[in-house]
Amino acid sequence: MPIYEYQCKDCSKVFSKLQKISADPKAVVCPGCGSSNVERLVSSFASGGNQSSSSGYGSSAPSCTGFT
Ligand SMILES: [Zn+2]
Repeated sequence: MPIYEYQCKDCSKVFSKLQKISADPKAVVCPGCGSSNVERLVSSFASGGNQSSSSGYGSSAPSCTGFT
C-alpha cells in the first residue's frame, strides 16, 4: 500500500496517509482542521525491481579424435 501525501488548502498542513490505490481521495480530511479541502501531492518514492539474470551455460570441451 502506498503512502500518499496531502496538503490541506485551508491550513496548508502537509500530512501523509496510507491508502489503497483504489481509495477515494475525496474521503481524506485534514487531521489538523478537519477540512476535506485537501490536495494530493505527487509522491516520489522510488520503486526499483530486483534485477535477476539467470545465465546457464554448459561447458563443452572440444574433443579431438584424430588418431590414426
Ligand atoms: Zn487543514
